Formats: sequence, structure tokens, C-alpha cells
Amino acid sequence: MSNWNIYEKDREKFEKKIFEEFPEFFRNADDPMKSLMCFGVEIDPGWHDLIYKLLQDIKALNPEEGFEVVQIKEKFGGLRFYTNFGTDEIFELIHKAEDDSYKICEICGEKGKLRNDIGWYLTLCNDHYKERKQDLISKKQLLS
Ligand SMILES: [Zn+2]
Repeated sequence: MSNWNIYEKDREKFEKKIFEEFPEFFRNADDPMKSLMCFGVEIDPGWHDLIYKLLQDIKALNPEEGFEVVQIKEKFGGLRFYTNFGTDEIFELIHKAEDDSYKICEICGEKGKLRNDIGWYLTLCNDHYKERKQDLISKKQLLS
């Protein structure tokens, strides 16, 4: 059975990278009263490039002083990216990235599709979908 926590290390590396490269967006990352980033980026590696690109594009727009990313997470198979405020241009970039996440496997970054018959919603490529499904079947066999 595969271990779905093997990406923990990649997540930590990714967090470190974006906190270092975009410190102004994560100023309150340690303060749970102001930001949920203290809980980390609970995203598998397939979307890391998408998020990184989004941060770069936002930075290129030169957001107003005080602009912050307060949470990055996966919900119902899609990327959710929350900021404390923003402009139309920034929100357009965010919505585009959130839409794109439904076409990218969260595990590997290959072409993916939203799946809803594997226990919950996840966007996965065919291979990771099959793997996940196999996992689910073997877990059910263990329980019965
Ligand atoms: Zn995949």
C-alpha cells in the first residue's frame, strides 16, 4: 500500500522556498490570529509550480503595501488561495490559477481531472486515480 504522506518533505521544502522568496506576502505566517499560513501549505507537489507561478505573477503587479497571502489549501479537489485584500487584477490571477488546478494532478502535475468516487474530491491524472482507487479497495478489504 502506498504511503500518502511521502510528500510531507516536499511540502516543507516548498513552504520554505515561497516564504523566503516572497517574505512580504507571508509577513504574518507565524501569527495564527492574522494568517492561517502557520498551518503550512497542505498541497501536494503537483500544484507547487502553479502556486509559485501565481505568486510571481502577483508580485509582478506590485501589490499595495500590506498585501498578504493568508491561506493556501485544497478544497473539493481545487486550489483555494486566500489573501487579505487585492485588486481586480490580482483576483483575476487567483481565479485563473484556481480554475487551472482542476486540470492538473495534485500529486504529479500531469494533466488531471476532478474525481469524486474515491472517498472525496481530488484532481488526479489517470495513473494516480487508479493508484488511489486501488488503495481504497485494499483498505476496504482490510476492514471487511
Ligand atoms: Zn498524477
